[in-house]
Amino acid sequence: MKLFISFTLASSLLLLFLSAALIGVSNADEYHRIPHHKSRSNNQRNRAITEDAAFWKSTAQALLQAELNKKPIEAKAKNVILFLGDGMSIATVTAARIYKGQKAGKTGEEEQLTFDKFPYSALSRTYCTDAQVADSACSATAYLCGVKTNIDTIGLDVNVIYKDCSTQNEAANRVSSIMTWAQAANKGTGIVTTTKVTHATPAGTYAHVANRDWEDDYAQSFDGVDTTTCDDIAEQLVLNDPGKNFKVILGGGRSYFMPNTMPDIETKENGRRRDGKNLIDEWKKAHPTGKYVTSRDELLNLIVSGTDAVLGLFSPAHMEYFMESSTANNPTLEQMTRTAIQMLQKETNGYVLLVEGGRIDQAHHDGRAKLALEEAIQFDLAVAAALELTSTDDTLIIVTADHSHTLTINGYPDRGNNLLGLSGDMGEDDKPYTTLSYANGPGYDTTFANGERINLTNVDTTADSYLQPSAVPIGSETHGGDDVAIFAIGPQAHLFQGVYEQHYIAHVMAYAACVGDGLKFCDAKSSSSRHGAVPLIMLVQFVLVWFAGRLLFRS
Ligand SMILES: [Zn+2]
Repeated sequence: MKLFISFTLASSLLLLFLSAALIGVSNADEYHRIPHHKSRSNNQRNRAITEDAAFWKSTAQALLQAELNKKPIEAKAKNVILFLGDGMSIATVTAARIYKGQKAGKTGEEEQLTFDKFPYSALSRTYCTDAQVADSACSATAYLCGVKTNIDTIGLDVNVIYKDCSTQNEAANRVSSIMTWAQAANKGTGIVTTTKVTHATPAGTYAHVANRDWEDDYAQSFDGVDTTTCDDIAEQLVLNDPGKNFKVILGGGRSYFMPNTMPDIETKENGRRRDGKNLIDEWKKAHPTGKYVTSRDELLNLIVSGTDAVLGLFSPAHMEYFMESSTANNPTLEQMTRTAIQMLQKETNGYVLLVEGGRIDQAHHDGRAKLALEEAIQFDLAVAAALELTSTDDTLIIVTADHSHTLTINGYPDRGNNLLGLSGDMGEDDKPYTTLSYANGPGYDTTFANGERINLTNVDTTADSYLQPSAVPIGSETHGGDDVAIFAIGPQAHLFQGVYEQHYIAHVMAYAACVGDGLKFCDAKSSSSRHGAVPLIMLVQFVLVWFAGRLLFRS
């Protein structure tokens, strides 16, 4: 009996312990998976959605079939267009896609951007030689020159010393870009951006600077630089190789090319240059059959066939954000891209073009996600225009970003929930929070007051001017260090199928176009000419043997 009681007690205790452990596990699991659904009334969140098993199976089968039918284009790329979404993190791509869909009245998550449909994609590791999180200068040097370098420097290798012009002028430190390689192969070259054309990303195509901020001599003067021996970025674009040979330069930054005695045509404020140089006139002198344009109408009315080169400076500084464009002066990125491609399509040997959606980054820095997503959609429209105007048989199009940002898409919002709205869940402070937020940035002030989180219940978080919440107070939200995406279509696009270092991109462009370091691979790649050459060599050999035979048999 004693034994039976002991056994019963022991078994009960064991069972109790096991149940407690199981409850504990399931509770812990629940805690991690299910948040505070205080605002939810049922488990099926959006009853209007009826995508059943048959739907998902058929969409997956269609995707699978498309993948099985996919064939790499092994040809040489006559043209290369690099689309650079500045700061276009993967979260930005996803958010832009949802935002685009919701603007069109859909739930949004299923929407596709133009480059979502590209056949090949990869990840790009963006760190620089001395920085875990990149800026646009060192990253531009990586994907345009094929060499990683120090943060805040452009077109120079790791031996450059920040703000030291003697290391900028050292020939051994300089690295050339895809534009120099393309020009050596007699290809046309051009740049398009929504920022100043002297900003870090476009400067990566033509400049060598120990400080990305040295956009003109005035900026250099703050660092005590001898501006007579140290070329600023605007000077390098207009006066030096390869910038002076660009067929297309479109963007903002007019005041960096004008002397401080000359009023701007739009703002009437004087230019910035203290050295008296008028670089716009210098460009005109060097391009007598070129055209200088300053407005959208002038750009759209440009007669491409009669114009050898175009310099378009549409704003004294950065061009306006698309959503805030107050004048008809600024063309869209799509309009600039179309003109650029039409200009470069005149080149018999093809072209290399950089198109930057430069203000996605700046809108993020401002802590304004809606603005960033609008810029990303404009960027996508430019990509669509390029696809329309070119052929994937001879044009490699790459879409990527230079670095990430701290934007996150968080919470457990319902399918189709307004991306710019509240997530539908509560924090442990019983206050709602937004789906989009930044790890840091100016949105701190719209997040916290008197040591508490602000209640957003009656705040219009979808407003154009709304600053998404952030956890750390910083006036300018920072970049992020996570990988960014690469999307590619056209010849050699299949070389992007993995996780790569960012500087690999320049080497793929060179290989695909048979320029620069890519030249040494070209015999192997241009299979059509090789296949043509083999029968020719055999024929020559046959004729030689026949003649030799005739000579032998005669004697
Ligand atoms: Zn930035």
